[in-house]
Amino acid sequence: MPHLAEQRERVIARIQAAEQTFHRATGNVQLLAVSKTQDAERIRALAMAGQRCFGENYLQEAQEKIQLLADLNLEWHFIGPIQSNKTRQIASLFHWVHSVDRLKVAERLDAQRPAGLPPLNICLEVNSSGEASKSGVPPAEIPQLALAVAALPNLRLRGLMTIPAPLAIGSDETSAHAPFRLLRELFAELAGQGLGMDTLSMGMSDDLEAAIAEGATMVRVGTALFGTRTARCASG
Ligand SMILES: *Cc1c(COP(=O)(O)O)cnc(C)c1O
Repeated sequence: MPHLAEQRERVIARIQAAEQTFHRATGNVQLLAVSKTQDAERIRALAMAGQRCFGENYLQEAQEKIQLLADLNLEWHFIGPIQSNKTRQIASLFHWVHSVDRLKVAERLDAQRPAGLPPLNICLEVNSSGEASKSGVPPAEIPQLALAVAALPNLRLRGLMTIPAPLAIGSDETSAHAPFRLLRELFAELAGQGLGMDTLSMGMSDDLEAAIAEGATMVRVGTALFGTRTARCASG
């Protein structure tokens, strides 16, 4: 599957061009390959092309692939909605969780992180689009949640994540940037309160340039790497 390697090169070139354009240090922005609905062989091919970090949305589907690819020593990021009865498996299989949106889930991940593993890396998911979005924590509630999560010993609070609501047709560049700017400002506010974090997980196939302009340190890219997804068949 040589085209996967080519597509990865193209995405990396886009990231590097955006780093230059927006005066970000070279290599500042990490590529997370979003591999939901992709089978283990395609993930393996992309890993062979040099990709190490992969993001998955559905636990059951991820579980099988993580086992099949255990020989590759990949870094797995959980980026999907979290049901609290799934936290035990998430806490033992993944290195990162980007979609923490309530204290109860954080407390369960903390309690269930297996002894002997390093702390689980955590991003809090921010609702950056108001009523247009159902997922994420309202920005005003983030500081309190961040303080509580930072105090949990088996978690390491790394930063903030967002999935902006789709843009209205005909909207301009400014509206594409607004959710990402909101995260940047929130991040700076938390840093001012002494919460040291290093990750802004924002930007996908269609908007990674706008996210990098506003300070993204990790872009989550699926379609531009793997092509258009077909409907998923696995659940959970
Ligand atoms: C699917 C998904 C992505 C990747 O989106 P693309 O548009 O395919 O690049 C990124 N983040 C999350 C949370 C996703 O669910």
